[in-house]
Amino acid sequence: MEKYITTPIYYLNGLPHIGHAYTSILGDVMKKFEQMRGNDVYYTTGTDEHGQKNQHSIEDSGLAPEVFLQERSDNFRNLFVKLGIDFDFFVRTSNPNHKKIVQEILQKIFDKGLIIKKSYEGLYCEGCEQFKKKTDLDENGCCPDHKVAPKAISEENYFFKLEPYREWLVSYIKNNPDWIQPAKYAHEVLGMLKEPLEDLCISRPKSRVWLGVELPFDKDYVTYIWFDALVNYISTLNFGHNQDFDKRWQNSYHLIAKDILKPHCIYWPIMLHALGVDPVSHYFIHGYWIGEGGVKMSKSLGNVVDPVEVIDLMGVDALRFYLINNMTMSGDSQISMDLLKQGYRMLANNIGNLQMRVLKMVQKNLDGKIPSCSVLNAEDKALVEKIADGFAKIYSKEMSLETISELADGIVKAGDAANAYFAANEPWVLAKNPEKKERFEAVVYTTLEILRLIGLAIYPLAPTSAEKIEKSLGIANPKFVANFEALLLKDGDSVVVGDPLFPMLA
Ligand SMILES: [Zn+2]
Repeated sequence: MEKYITTPIYYLNGLPHIGHAYTSILGDVMKKFEQMRGNDVYYTTGTDEHGQKNQHSIEDSGLAPEVFLQERSDNFRNLFVKLGIDFDFFVRTSNPNHKKIVQEILQKIFDKGLIIKKSYEGLYCEGCEQFKKKTDLDENGCCPDHKVAPKAISEENYFFKLEPYREWLVSYIKNNPDWIQPAKYAHEVLGMLKEPLEDLCISRPKSRVWLGVELPFDKDYVTYIWFDALVNYISTLNFGHNQDFDKRWQNSYHLIAKDILKPHCIYWPIMLHALGVDPVSHYFIHGYWIGEGGVKMSKSLGNVVDPVEVIDLMGVDALRFYLINNMTMSGDSQISMDLLKQGYRMLANNIGNLQMRVLKMVQKNLDGKIPSCSVLNAEDKALVEKIADGFAKIYSKEMSLETISELADGIVKAGDAANAYFAANEPWVLAKNPEKKERFEAVVYTTLEILRLIGLAIYPLAPTSAEKIEKSLGIANPKFVANFEALLLKDGDSVVVGDPLFPMLA
């Protein structure tokens, strides 16, 4: 099946942080999970290069716009490459093909009479790039997100009518209960749809914002940032010029953080509906990463987790695993260097040490060769099969945040079970007694086989470690497909004792 996974495109007025790293890693984990299930996945992430915020950053930098945008966009791209993110296309809204498709879509909606021009007086927050209602402001009359009083602005603008589609959207959400996941965010969107929707201002006069896509029907204006950014999800598939567009779009997934719920789950489906296009198949919404103890990360508190610093200390896999294993579905999730180190030590104890101990035993006592599975007793077999079935069951589920979280949990539990089995059977004692040779071989085989299954299952989360585990078990060219048949390790193959998977941290 052809599938399509997207992350939001990120603003260039700041540097990439752990939140960006997380969403893009999550997309990559989902891509690899789906690929293991035999699906053909197209995955995009990228940068949003228009709008007033970016414009101000360019003006402050004194650089030529294209130089600034290239440099800032490369910061994101380079980090994602470093994180092992296998994107198929890196979106940049400054791309001419994207701009052309934005204009085509604006023209189509304009021709349907759904865009009107009117004069508007309102309170404008530059941080949000949005007009605010008085009721949106805090007790000081400031934007609650930006803590700045919005400016009173009067200007003529173009507006897109949302209200005619409100009832349709409400029933769509109610009829498709797993469209927006987790379900609490669907309730939040339904809450926003209780009141009539105001016309959405979709233009900015060029006198105020020059960094954007020009309206095809009025050269004095650029389009509003969301009308440009959201279109990336279909311009990437070359919407309007691609006969196979539906094939991917009908199995599409938007990953977003909770702060951009409204544009994604209200403006975007209505824009698509006005174009006669179905909405995305699923939204996966996640919370924020906050500091340990539940405090917000900030420079002044010194608790900001820099993804590059983490990678330099403990490698990419440990960061990827931590983020997926510790994300909470219910709200925000906590991260700190200490928590990351705890997560790293957990992986080292749970998988790394076990792998090294058993490999060394094979090297020392079995001439480095994998023993035969014919010596396993019923209990050994039952343990291996239970773990294999557990992974097979997870990989047979529909992809979701829950499934991915369950996978991380399943890996830790399989590691725990293997460690408990290893400790209880004391192969280091068995090894000294020639009469117990068969039993020793059975315990070794069982442990190696569980490690093989863990190596397979962990691939989406920790691809480099997965490859190392499989190769250490004598599998020269590991294939990461979701086949969890048990007892596939071949006797007589040679194990490879390499470096530890998760060496002691400096
Ligand atoms: Zn604001």
